[in-house]
Amino acid sequence: MCGILGFAGNQKVVYDLVSGLTALQHRGQDAAGITTFENNFHTKKGLGLVNNVFESKHLKRLKGNMGLGHVRYTTQGSNELVNAQPFSVTYPFGISMVHNGNIINFNQLRKSLYEDYHILPQTSNDLELILYTFATELANSKDLKKLKVADIFNAVISLQEKVKGAYSSIALIANHGLLAFSDPNGIRPLLLGQKTTEKGITYGFSSESTCFDYLGYELLCDLEPGQAVFIDTEGKMHVKDCRTSDRKFCIFEYIYFAREDSVLHKKLVASERVKMGKMLARKVKTSGLQPDIVIDVPSSAYFFASAMAEELQVPYRRGLVKNNHVGRSFIAPTQEQREKMVRHKLNPIRDVVAGKKVAVVDDSIVRGTTSQRIVQIIRDAGATEVYFISAAPPIKHPCVYGIDMAISTELIAASKDLEEIRKFMNADAVIYQSLEDMIQLYNGHYCMACFSGKYPIEGSKAYLNTVEQERLLAKKEAEIF
Ligand code: SF4
Repeated sequence: MCGILGFAGNQKVVYDLVSGLTALQHRGQDAAGITTFENNFHTKKGLGLVNNVFESKHLKRLKGNMGLGHVRYTTQGSNELVNAQPFSVTYPFGISMVHNGNIINFNQLRKSLYEDYHILPQTSNDLELILYTFATELANSKDLKKLKVADIFNAVISLQEKVKGAYSSIALIANHGLLAFSDPNGIRPLLLGQKTTEKGITYGFSSESTCFDYLGYELLCDLEPGQAVFIDTEGKMHVKDCRTSDRKFCIFEYIYFAREDSVLHKKLVASERVKMGKMLARKVKTSGLQPDIVIDVPSSAYFFASAMAEELQVPYRRGLVKNNHVGRSFIAPTQEQREKMVRHKLNPIRDVVAGKKVAVVDDSIVRGTTSQRIVQIIRDAGATEVYFISAAPPIKHPCVYGIDMAISTELIAASKDLEEIRKFMNADAVIYQSLEDMIQLYNGHYCMACFSGKYPIEGSKAYLNTVEQERLLAKKEAEIF
């Protein structure tokens, strides 16, 4: 999960890029970067948060009316500056690119780039392979001096044939324009917006609509699976459905990744969480549990918990306070760091939970260790019983499309049944969202592979096996040395 942004118009775009990236900060906190174009590419990248990477001297230097930006959450590749996006190449034109997602044929693509074009990628970041593939396909165009929009779309079509996986991408092509495209299944979000000022129209592409709101952009649409949109240097928009397949939009965007105020595929994230909260209430009713209060694990579980409480006619209370100056524990790279962050991040409000049967709602249960600590925090604050409610169904399969969840052996629901999970978490009850209810609510067009194991892209399971073996080997080596 990363956040990407791109703007093309008649005025300097760096201010919208920096402000917009801060609104996408929840999608990645490892690194941030911006590239703009005016006669040349102007780039600033750094490790850490947007506000720490960009200073006023960079804003002056990042000139141009077209640009793109990225906030990084590490999935493929190490957390080093060399992997921070955007990436750029100089041939056949200057091309700068950002992406969100993960490709599943990394080794094969790397091999064929070397064998077919003698290109030796320098990083372990899959964006480098997407960028080189795009550049080599563009270089195959008939007449590079008179590059046509059709040539750009043809390069996207060829890329989509070669690159397998999830990749919402934005590319800046020097002296030609700004391109955005999605993988054929449209797994990761990418939206188009526009802002009209006295200087004309500026188009924007973003992973979420939230930054459009306060930057004054009107949301036009989501890019459809396999669709490409190109804004040329005259400000004209060109749209092409390239290589399309069934939409398999990541359901976890609604559960956890996206901000509540974002609208994705015409659905407000907050409203989707309310619907899921109501479904949870039905499961609690069926279980016969009668909590005194419902609390949430801040902050992504608020709408699930408050809607569930309303439906159950049980008071919703704020029972845990979050320290917002500690990063998201899910994003922390090691288990030890994640566990420390939970204690540091969440503090109970004793008077709210003491002496009560508490239903605590979280967005999901991944390894179970974070949930176990939350149960303990609430117990230590005096709760008489703790029911742990997960807004997501049991996660039994790792994500291979850009979310660094865990390997199968680390996912608690992959190896333990409900009673074993309850015991592990030391909860009085554990309730999961029902996968059947989710399928009924979101029929067909959504990826739910981390619950069902039905990966929408061929080759995903083979890729997963390779990744898991590599990780187990690395783990063993770390234990030995
Ligand atoms: S496997 Fe899960 S997290 Fe990954 S894209 Fe599919 S629904 Fe989203």
